[in-house]
Amino acid sequence: MRQQVGLIRRSDSGSVKKIWAVANQKGGVGKTTTAVSLGGALLSEGQRVLLIDLDPHGSLTTYFGLDPDAIEHSVYTLFKDQAEKRPERRYDAILRATDFEGLWLLPASTAQATLDRQLGAEPGMGLVIQRTLADLAGRFDYVFMDCPPMLGVLMVNALAACQQLLIPVQTEFLALKGLERMLHTLQMISRSRGGELPYLILPTLFDRRTRASTDALRALQERYPARLWDGLIPVDTQFREASRVGRPLTLWQPAARGARAYRALLDTLLERPAADPQPLGGVA
Ligand code: ADP
Ligand code: MG
Repeated sequence: MRQQVGLIRRSDSGSVKKIWAVANQKGGVGKTTTAVSLGGALLSEGQRVLLIDLDPHGSLTTYFGLDPDAIEHSVYTLFKDQAEKRPERRYDAILRATDFEGLWLLPASTAQATLDRQLGAEPGMGLVIQRTLADLAGRFDYVFMDCPPMLGVLMVNALAACQQLLIPVQTEFLALKGLERMLHTLQMISRSRGGELPYLILPTLFDRRTRASTDALRALQERYPARLWDGLIPVDTQFREASRVGRPLTLWQPAARGARAYRALLDTLLERPAADPQPLGGVA
């Protein structure tokens, strides 16, 4: 692990400061929203951010106005080039600038859904994203990878390439099962990384008025006290509006409750004192 990170941090000036994967084998828990919102928050601080869409559904890609059904170059291209041993890398064709200066997207293609079947057995497939990030090290300060909700070569790549895993968990009871599955996957992959990958569980879509939310949160606190972020991402209808207009909520409506919660999360991730008081503080 240390070696892999060392590769990415090769030069001290202009190197990637931190790489996160956002994953959970359950859909609809706020993975894409987390990547977009944290990326937007960093952008508002003048950082250069790369968002990587590993999910064949391409929600992150769609968020920024691209069509994963029609895209020519994408994450898929990286894997295909590796499998075909193409010597040059086509980063300039693959990377897409967004409407937000400093925010870049490595988009998804729906073809990614066929990766495991078509190319999963080719050599070197597990480290394609790690190599990509090593090559792009000088261009970005922070990287978020939005993972697919299934275990496969894309998830393996993300967990090999990241320095910390963020696991959004919707605060409702069924979600706890999904979390167990994700932690099991993580355990398997940590073994092949040769060390445990640090991770943080993020309670999302929290609605303090519902019993389901408060019960699920309490269960998370009891079961994972050391791994649970001590804040919350509340339900905030503005997230849906932000995705409708294709902007990160943290840039578009920085005062929204949801945006403030993601800024507080960013403070935790960057290990700095909270600049913004937590909107919800403790829980009933
Ligand atoms: P995933 O990537 O895990 O499938 P998304 O981030 O796409 O989940 O979120 C699923 C849906 O829920 C989206 O429509 C999104 O706008 C909405 N959503 C996500 N987080 C919140 C939140 N905290 N409050 C309200 N809606 C949210
Ligand atoms: Mg998603």
